[in-house]
Amino acid sequence: MYTNFRHVLFIIDFKRKTTNFVPLFKILKFDMKKIILLSGCLIILLSGCYNKKSAPASDYIEEPHSFSKPNEAAITHLDLDINVDFDNEIIHGKASYLIKNNKASQIILDSKFLTIEKVQADGKDTAFSLGDFDEQLGSPLKIDINNDTKQITVFYKTTHKTEALQWLKPQQTTDKKHPFLFTQGQAILTRTWIPIQDSPQIRITYNAKVKVPSQLMAVMSAENPKTKTPDGQYTFKMAQPISPYLIALAVGDIEYKAISNRTGIYAEKSMVEKAHDEFSDMENMVASAEALYGTYAWEQFDVIVLPPSFPFGGMENPRLTFATPTVIAGDKSLTSLIAHELAHSWSGNLVTNATWDDFWLNEGFTVYFEMRIMEALYGKDRANMLARIGRQDLEEEIESFKETPDDTKLKLNLKGRNPDDGMNSIAYDKGYLFLRTLEETAGREKFDVFLKSYFQKHAFSTIHTEKFVAFLNENLLEKHDITFNTNEWIYNAGIPDNQAIISSDKFETVEKTIQQFVKTNTVDKTLTKDWTTQEWVHFVRNFPNDIKTEHMAMFDEAFNLTNSNNSYIAMVWYEQAINHDYHGNDVDAKIEDFLIKVGRRWYVSTIYKAFKRNDKTDVALAIYNKARSNYHAVTTNTVDGILGYKQE
Ligand SMILES: [Zn+2]
Repeated sequence: MYTNFRHVLFIIDFKRKTTNFVPLFKILKFDMKKIILLSGCLIILLSGCYNKKSAPASDYIEEPHSFSKPNEAAITHLDLDINVDFDNEIIHGKASYLIKNNKASQIILDSKFLTIEKVQADGKDTAFSLGDFDEQLGSPLKIDINNDTKQITVFYKTTHKTEALQWLKPQQTTDKKHPFLFTQGQAILTRTWIPIQDSPQIRITYNAKVKVPSQLMAVMSAENPKTKTPDGQYTFKMAQPISPYLIALAVGDIEYKAISNRTGIYAEKSMVEKAHDEFSDMENMVASAEALYGTYAWEQFDVIVLPPSFPFGGMENPRLTFATPTVIAGDKSLTSLIAHELAHSWSGNLVTNATWDDFWLNEGFTVYFEMRIMEALYGKDRANMLARIGRQDLEEEIESFKETPDDTKLKLNLKGRNPDDGMNSIAYDKGYLFLRTLEETAGREKFDVFLKSYFQKHAFSTIHTEKFVAFLNENLLEKHDITFNTNEWIYNAGIPDNQAIISSDKFETVEKTIQQFVKTNTVDKTLTKDWTTQEWVHFVRNFPNDIKTEHMAMFDEAFNLTNSNNSYIAMVWYEQAINHDYHGNDVDAKIEDFLIKVGRRWYVSTIYKAFKRNDKTDVALAIYNKARSNYHAVTTNTVDGILGYKQE
């Protein structure tokens, strides 16, 4: 996920395989295709093949965010058959699972805000019950089975309380003609639209049949259609085993446009060309990523550009990244987001954090990998600017946690808390800084060999922090006789002294330019004419703390920051306008428009927090009352907390 989260006051924000594995995978696929033709027994064969890669029973470690007990009975494959009802805004259907049964008398699924209608075990009705409801986790769905039960089926429907689904009216879409639906599963929301064992340690393959209104197209984190069907009936197959938080669905009036034979864009009609131009480097990104850490394991890498209420920058749903339209700046300047989501195809989707306490293993590695892709494609300057922005985010995050320093450890303890509490700059940017420091200590060549072997060794499995530390010791540190303070980095608060120093000449120039403009009370546009988005962001974020209103006005007049078409520059400028009580150029109305239109949690929470910090919560609440219905639940959960908002 790409959140880029920054500090909070009360609520925490957010923000390969290599040669001998890949041929094996390809051989499997090839054989399976032949076998399908011969026998048609796809499901059983696939689950059989991949079960070898799934964790065997008793390998699952304790998981504070799931009621399931996979050591007793674990799901291995899902057949989903659902109807997407836009009129009533519910999903209705059945979820059938093949299970690995360790002679259990009960299997437990996670469910939240679902209506469970009927449950069957091996085709016959069976008893079930919903346990006590927990605000974060929902309820355990306990299903009676026999010690040889192989399959269970749950007939269910979603309710209006579901947190994963966001139903959009036509006017909330870009083209404003048809409704839209998308899901967001991470961290523990898949259970609000599918009853499931919702732990990242679970890995399942899935097939799905999805019925939607005939003028709309459905796409999933699976093999996808490229054109609409006449009857609105779609079938999907995800042949590689994934964790449940990566099951995703989007339904809308969308089209597909290929970039290469394995990359392309889904978007609403008026957005397709823009997105295609913006993301035209996608094939090069995949090629650079493969050159770094091994073959891409998921065959297809497409991106769907969603309506602006999508709560994240991007979500790395396998084969189909979900992305916010706010990264389309017109100059490819924000496409590091695509590099980030692509990197998750290795760190996250291929090698997955075992619990949300180990979230840094997903995000720290992904930011590191993202920076390496950006460096390979666009050079060190660009990568270092991105890393420096992350370093500033980290500084602010650590400051925001000064009362709760345990939250600045990489390995967290989120038992009893929402996993979203750990989705902040610590996992992303401290995780990155740890890996970059390791790289600089060991040397890039050795570090790359280590990372490649890490992805290869743990492909299609989950890993927790202690297992990673053991692997690091054995395969990098002891092997090359390197001394490194790994435990201090992972288990202590704050940042150790041996951190890598990230410098950027370009940012130093930006800082000098700010000083010059303020000192001379004039703006010399020749100094800024070649600036990239990252330089502009650094410029705005690094105004002197006591900047005068006339200097804010001078910058706005010279660079029209209030009306920036670049959402990132606009967002940091709005934050500064609130911080420094600047009201020129009709900026207040622009901020309100922005908050009503955009639902990206990082952006809107940054602005709401600025209001709160500056004792303008009443202004924020007046806007939030108008904007809230446009936001996804992950965004409202956060902003409710920031503003102390209570639903009537
Ligand atoms: Zn991410």
